[in-house]
Amino acid sequence: MNSENKRVIAILGSTGSIGTQTLQVVEEHPECFEVYAITANQRVDDLIAQARKFKPEAVVIADETKYTQLKEALADLPIKVYAGYEAICQIVTSAPIDIVVTAMVGFAGLRPTIEAIKAGKAIALANKETMVVAGELITNLANRYRVPILPVDSEHSAIFQCLAGESNNRIEKLILTASGGPFRTYTAEQLEGVTKAQALRHPNWSMGAKITIDSATMMNKGFEVIEAKWLFGIEGKDIEVVVHPQSVIHSMVQFADGSVKAQLGTPDMRLPIMYALSYPSRLDSSFPRLDFGKLQQLTFESPNFDTFPCLRFAYDALAMGGNMPCVVNAANEICVAAFLREKIKFTDMSRIIERAMQSANFKINPTLDDYLATDAEIRKMAEGWI
Ligand code: NDP
Ligand code: MG
Repeated sequence: MNSENKRVIAILGSTGSIGTQTLQVVEEHPECFEVYAITANQRVDDLIAQARKFKPEAVVIADETKYTQLKEALADLPIKVYAGYEAICQIVTSAPIDIVVTAMVGFAGLRPTIEAIKAGKAIALANKETMVVAGELITNLANRYRVPILPVDSEHSAIFQCLAGESNNRIEKLILTASGGPFRTYTAEQLEGVTKAQALRHPNWSMGAKITIDSATMMNKGFEVIEAKWLFGIEGKDIEVVVHPQSVIHSMVQFADGSVKAQLGTPDMRLPIMYALSYPSRLDSSFPRLDFGKLQQLTFESPNFDTFPCLRFAYDALAMGGNMPCVVNAANEICVAAFLREKIKFTDMSRIIERAMQSANFKINPTLDDYLATDAEIRKMAEGWI
């Protein structure tokens, strides 16, 4: 915290869906938060506008070809400007930063998260791919450096909130709710013909393109099962997914006595973002409230593992352990990118991921270098099949 007792934050991926909503939370409570650094990949105009508005100490653009434009646009302000992925890995270690919000998408979030933990920064974790790829390594590092990993993902924030005051009580199971995505009621045959535009139309949440596709395949929920294992230390067999199309209950915990606690709210990511940043306090907010008079019903159904095999792959990868979740993540990133370029069909994604799992070099106790090698190897393999 700085001298005014504000929490000093760095936002990795400030131009994305989570990044911009994090900045809205800062605007809601300027007395509590100060933005030290913001980073983006290539959307330089958005980054410039954010920098002019929030006046951070530093901005970083991963795409080095955009450096001159960024530097010139901010020349009249005392803001340090950097470019390149390594600069993102370095900026997170700056002394004044208290919390790093990891709102970058994909495997690229792994190394900056590791650097931030080693520098003793609290992590507000949005980038679930980091926990999918290297959950054990990240959890061990966070324990060693005594840094908290505060969940931003709405389901994990819900569980985290349900666990407040329950530290000595045995958890019987975690119940992750899933909206079911845009294709919840589709058959496997119907899924063969769905388009990119249909897949990008999520019923309840407005999110970046990659996670929106992951939600449509239910890979997102599978990743959240893996994320929950590492965040809360619960085995995969004790993590259940329940489809709840209204996205009002964000997740639940069942305790040793059979009692179930749930956390509810509007589907608004600013809530879990704000809780991660203000934890253990709750701050006032002007965000919309749930209106129970207008909620006609809350419904629940079991997920269909045959229609949505990606969910099954995630459970399988978690049970196998080692580098298998990393394999699934790498193949998935390549598949989602190819689907978004309209190079492959929706159902090709699960086929390619399954093939990657069968073809991968399995490693039971991977190091960071093994994860980097697995990621590179599987990307190349999957690109070849596409
Ligand atoms: P977006 O695609 O909207 O934003 C991604 C951000 O990361 C952008 O700022 C982007 O920069 C930057 N970025 C992308 N790739 C790189 C890279 N290689 N190097 C550096 N920066 C990069 O994603 P979301 O905000 O939707 O998601 C971010 C993360 O949060 C994901 O891991 C997602 O799973 C997770 N999450 C998101 C939720 C949501 O509601 N959106 C909910 C729960 C979790 P640029 O703008 O320049 O491309
Ligand atoms: Mg989620």
